[in-house]
Amino acid sequence: MMDEEYDAIIVGGGHNGLTCGAYLSRAGKKVLVLEAKPYVGGASVTEEFAPGFRASTYSFVLGHLHPKVIDDLELEKFGFEAVPMGETCNPTENDCIVFSSDPKKTYEQIARFSKKDAENYPKFFARLQSTVKLMRELQLETPINPFDKSPSGLMKTAGFAWRYRNSGKEFYNLIQSLSMSANDYVSRWFETDIVKAKLMFWATIGGNVGPYAPGTAFYIVSHLTGQFGMRFAKGGMGSIADALRASGEAHGMQVRCSASVDEILVEGGRTRGVRLKSGEDIKARRVISNVGAKVTFGNIVRRQHLPQDFMEHIDGFRTRGMGFKLLCAVDKKPTYKGFDPEKTGVDYPGYAHICPTPEFLERAYDEAKFGWYSSEPFLSPSVPTHFDPSLAPDGKHIVTFQGGVTPYELTNSTWDRERDNLLRNTFSVMDRFAPGFSDSVIDYKLYLPKDIEDDINMPGGNTQHGELTLDQLFYMRPAPGYGDYRSPIDGLYQCGASTHPGGAVSAVNGHNAAREVLKDWKRL
Ligand SMILES: Cc1cc2nc3c(=O)[nH]c(=O)nc-3n(C[C@H](O)[C@H](O)[C@H](O)COP(=O)(O)OP(=O)(O)OC[C@H]3O[C@@H](n4cnc5c(N)ncnc54)[C@H](O)[C@@H]3O)c2cc1C
Repeated sequence: MMDEEYDAIIVGGGHNGLTCGAYLSRAGKKVLVLEAKPYVGGASVTEEFAPGFRASTYSFVLGHLHPKVIDDLELEKFGFEAVPMGETCNPTENDCIVFSSDPKKTYEQIARFSKKDAENYPKFFARLQSTVKLMRELQLETPINPFDKSPSGLMKTAGFAWRYRNSGKEFYNLIQSLSMSANDYVSRWFETDIVKAKLMFWATIGGNVGPYAPGTAFYIVSHLTGQFGMRFAKGGMGSIADALRASGEAHGMQVRCSASVDEILVEGGRTRGVRLKSGEDIKARRVISNVGAKVTFGNIVRRQHLPQDFMEHIDGFRTRGMGFKLLCAVDKKPTYKGFDPEKTGVDYPGYAHICPTPEFLERAYDEAKFGWYSSEPFLSPSVPTHFDPSLAPDGKHIVTFQGGVTPYELTNSTWDRERDNLLRNTFSVMDRFAPGFSDSVIDYKLYLPKDIEDDINMPGGNTQHGELTLDQLFYMRPAPGYGDYRSPIDGLYQCGASTHPGGAVSAVNGHNAAREVLKDWKRL
């Protein structure tokens, strides 16, 4: 028997690694989390990007964090606090539509543009909600492998079929969303561009094709699967990682930062620990990787330890990042020329989408299809300092943008040459909708997909660690038959966003993975 230092090592202190570690520690296990960067969080961090200005570098909207994890790990006791962001606004050049959690308010807003659309909205939402409800249940499932013919595999499939025996209609709707374009999906209900574009913006998160492409309707469902509502985290998204870490440490979890794992050690088909870049070996019977599958398998776990057919799937797993993140320090909040507090009933659009029409969104992808970037990027300007002034010096603000479309690599040029031109395009769109914006910028920091990959080892800079397409979901995420958080190596598990149910700061992957690790505990 090996001389084990830890019961389990977690490679990566992203929010999923910390979640998994916190659950295992609560179960009395001796856990070590190893994080390459000087601080934990991965894509859930708050950093100072300009003197005195702090922002959520990557993820910024809290909607997905699972309430079960918040309760189980007592995150509020450990400093986590959510700030409601109220309404989401879509300014155009001469108007602005607001969607609110209050159905009456949303009805009135949509009716300003189309009575028919306003009347259809609750019907559309009811249909969508039934699919979303199913997705919320599926989220917490460990995906079954329908092709596992072993007695235990057949039992799991039968159990799944029994549990969902009354969900036929919901599965039908889910399959529709997985196969339809976002444009077709919303056009069955709505006639006005602004309402369609408002909903279709969510379809820009998760894949790398425009919302006219089949399968993109699912991203709307996936976005709404988050049940925490549209909120910010007080202190930025880093506060979630800090609370997860504190929750785990209160139960003995150990965390080492600036500890990059070079290799997951394998002997005789099972893990025996890890080797750090510094050359230090640390032993454990179980290793759980929070790092994307594409980096974990064939890189951190050396290729010779892995079956060829498994590696064919991992090599084919698509991780093309297509979005950028821009953080701006500004001396005043953007003033949208189409926004009117009286018409909208909102004091300020602290979270907005710049995408006036479906065509605007789709066109942003056209250039990217051929290795270029959008001349008119779609944008999601948010002003977290409107809700949490502590993030910037007095009287100053931050505006963060997630936008697209920016492929990982360019054809016939390099990002070094084109970064400033992308910024120019972005500021020019903003100035059209919020005149004077570019003059208000004091400082900025831009992250392209390659920058994200270089910073946190997120393959391709893909926010989900892998695109959310049907062939990369459920029991096929990240490879057919390995959707259950296990791997071809005994004792090696996965807990990051490249597992079911995909990316977002939901903590669900970490939660589900911990459950599976504990199921195997005695056997290992
Ligand atoms: C620009 C951007 C915007 C986003 N916006 C949102 C949003 O608004 N809302 C939302 O819910 N989600 C959003 N997401 C998605 C979400 O942030 C991610 O899907 C999620 O944070 C992934 O979490 P994770 O813990 O699985 O992995 P990660 O956060 O990627 O963590 C992996 C960790 O492993 C570490 N690591 C890597 N290699 C090694 C190694 N060899 N040794 C040790 N450590 C290693 C990394 O440094 C990192 O800390 C966004 C993502 C991005 C990039």
